[in-house]
Amino acid sequence: MTDLTSLTLADARTALLEKRFSSMELTGALLSAIEAARPLNAFVTQTPERALAMAAESDARLARGEARSLEGLPLAIKDLFCTKGVRTTAGSRILETFVPPYESTVTQNLWDAGAVLLGKTNMDEFAMGSSNETSYFGPVANPWRADGSNQNLVPGGSSGGSASAVAADLCLAATGTDTGGSIRQPAAVTGTVGLKPTYGRCSRWGIIAFASSLDQAGPMTKTVRDAAILLRHMASIDPLDSTSVDVPVPNYEDIVDAGVKGLRIGIPKEYRVDGAPPEIDALWQKGADWLRAQGAEIVEISLPFTKYALPAYYIVAPAEASSNLARYDGVRYGHRARDVRDIGELYERSRGEGFGQEVRRRILIGTYVLSAGYYDAYYARAQKVRTLIARDFDAAFAHCDALLTPATPGPAFALGEKTQDPVSMYLNDIFTVTVNMAGLPALSVPAGLTMGGLPLGLQVIGKAFDEAMVLRIGRALELAAQFRVKPKAWWLS
Ligand code: GLN
Repeated sequence: MTDLTSLTLADARTALLEKRFSSMELTGALLSAIEAARPLNAFVTQTPERALAMAAESDARLARGEARSLEGLPLAIKDLFCTKGVRTTAGSRILETFVPPYESTVTQNLWDAGAVLLGKTNMDEFAMGSSNETSYFGPVANPWRADGSNQNLVPGGSSGGSASAVAADLCLAATGTDTGGSIRQPAAVTGTVGLKPTYGRCSRWGIIAFASSLDQAGPMTKTVRDAAILLRHMASIDPLDSTSVDVPVPNYEDIVDAGVKGLRIGIPKEYRVDGAPPEIDALWQKGADWLRAQGAEIVEISLPFTKYALPAYYIVAPAEASSNLARYDGVRYGHRARDVRDIGELYERSRGEGFGQEVRRRILIGTYVLSAGYYDAYYARAQKVRTLIARDFDAAFAHCDALLTPATPGPAFALGEKTQDPVSMYLNDIFTVTVNMAGLPALSVPAGLTMGGLPLGLQVIGKAFDEAMVLRIGRALELAAQFRVKPKAWWLS
């Protein structure tokens, strides 16, 4: 029965409908796998009782022939999504004991479709980071290790717990959020599939805010088909989020196998960065060849403002974060400092004790770039750069249907390797942040291994609300790459 854990969402769905096993059995197998994988530290909170109760209800529905689309399928949820009655920490001490009285729209959609909650996954504090090392609950280990090495590697971030849980078969699939790369980068370095939908595709209601104009929820899965299945149920227009958009949600699963014949795929020349490992360029070339071999036309395109995306992101994102995080003051909820003399000291000490170093750094940067006298020089300018980046993509999409790029500048790195140098950490998002700045959908799909045996991903970027195209091209890459390798389960020894 141990094989149950390695099933895809699609295969488990079929097997449950055919009554080959029950959701209770499947859920039980995954709960045991989670227990056995404690060394990965992928979960902040496990919810076994709730999981089994949800599974029992699903089994009853399956027996009555009343299965909903995700009936009985166990998922892991990033600890940034508020879950009613289940602690939600955002990876921060300041929310260590926070139990939301409401449910995020995305997770509600999933439960309404019959999915089962296994637990809440570890993440960088307030989703700030690219390695899951800023979590108050400790780092997450990547299930992958380089060949012949015992060195723990980071799973990427900020959705590191979700990526690790999917890669190690601790859940069928997971949710993530992506503000500058937090779904796609961890997916790429753990050999999993991650999709950041168009801004507005999924409701942000009930997702703890980092940078509201960039944040977007999306699926993290074992296959492209599974991403198609999950996205359909995560997406919705929501009266509670005025930035969610009323665009029909197609049945993406029907489209994933449509192939790439006749499509034009753009290769942005600015994504060839100096100093990137040759393996990254080689994989990118291979990806283009795979698509060409399946009938696509490859065209070179230009996104001239790419080089300003990362610096502009590190103005816009901290600015919005400093404003969003102002609410954590120790008064209504969250961590509260003890033995304070007055309200000023209560605010200062609660925030000083509750937030970690990276979050404090972002608040300082954000407050600075928004301050009178600097607002125009930094924030207003970064917003203008953002418009230029979006225009770059508009111009490119006049010549092609989607773009192909590397997902990350390299494979998973060692724990602690980049913690002393924030800029080297920020550079992990060099290929992903532009997409958030322009609000576009993009998918990371596992495409190969480094010489050392670590996974690498390719990224497909699409036009706004054209997730179907992104999935279709991702599926073509997946077929060609035949990425079937699994990490060795060292955490069991
Ligand atoms: N790594 C980026 C940051 O630290 C992006 C994080 C994210 O997408 N949430 O801001």
